[in-house]
Amino acid sequence: MIQLYVPLNFLGTLYREIKQSMADLSRMFALMDKEREVADPPGAQPLQLQGQPTVRFENVQFAYDPERPILQGVSFEIPAGKTVAVVGASGAGKSTLARLLYRFYDVQSGQIAIAGQDIRTVTQASVRKAIGIVPQDTVLFNDTVAYNIAYGRPGATQAQIEAVARAARIHGFIAATPQGYATKVGERGLKLSGGEKQRVAIARTLLKDPPVLIFDEATSALDSQTERAIQHELASAAQGKTTLVIAHRLSTVVDAHEILVMEAGRIIERGTHADLLAQGGRYAQMWALQQSADVVE
Ligand code: ADP
Ligand code: MG
Repeated sequence: MIQLYVPLNFLGTLYREIKQSMADLSRMFALMDKEREVADPPGAQPLQLQGQPTVRFENVQFAYDPERPILQGVSFEIPAGKTVAVVGASGAGKSTLARLLYRFYDVQSGQIAIAGQDIRTVTQASVRKAIGIVPQDTVLFNDTVAYNIAYGRPGATQAQIEAVARAARIHGFIAATPQGYATKVGERGLKLSGGEKQRVAIARTLLKDPPVLIFDEATSALDSQTERAIQHELASAAQGKTTLVIAHRLSTVVDAHEILVMEAGRIIERGTHADLLAQGGRYAQMWALQQSADVVE
């Protein structure tokens, strides 16, 4: 019974380490799987950009699983430097639009073009360099807060990192940790809440300052006071950028160039805020509902 001589706390440590390695491995495989979804065609060239690009979805069809179509012919254009907003019930396919534009997956038919170039024909790296995305669920690297913010703009100075952290209302939180910006986050370090991770992702995107922005319910995990403060920062970051905003709060889409209302993988209504209110359809209904909810809040 040699096991009996093994100190229990050693077993505990060993167990935790094995569990950690398994978690790292499974995350790595998950990432590799993602990477395998798309591949650069031989001889692919980088995306060519001159100033702000337009983004076009042309009759896009997509399914994660061939048995179950998700997007069923989605077409829209974000003119250079403008904002298009997407709203609709959960499960409608909004985040799928964001993932396809960032090229986590390729469309099954139709095409997505940035500055007139089908994103399947250019290098994936150049597409991702042109886009800043604040996803619905942020996964951070097991590294320092500073690394996580500066990722996307290597060589950023501490002053630049702090400036965007302030804009994303996360500087105070970071400064209050014993190691500040050198604090390790993630599975092996400081565990951040959903809202804290979201603010790190926002800081990262502000620092990257790319020509195309995607905000996928970027402030959904924040309290309403912080959300309002950050909304203001996001709106000014999006000024003059080609931006896709997926919104859970309609007050943030009022000024969009166009608002798309999605349901079950299709656009069922589209127009400006005023157009859609005048139509008296689904959007007008959602707007009325949120107005009365805001009064209670
Ligand atoms: P939304 O952002 O509007 O809530 P999503 O685009 O995330 O909707 O999801 C649209 C549909 O696709 C949902 O029915 C969802 O269950 C499904 N879906 C999302 N991601 C995956 C995935 N990785 N594999 C299979 N189905 C998925
Ligand atoms: Mg979503």
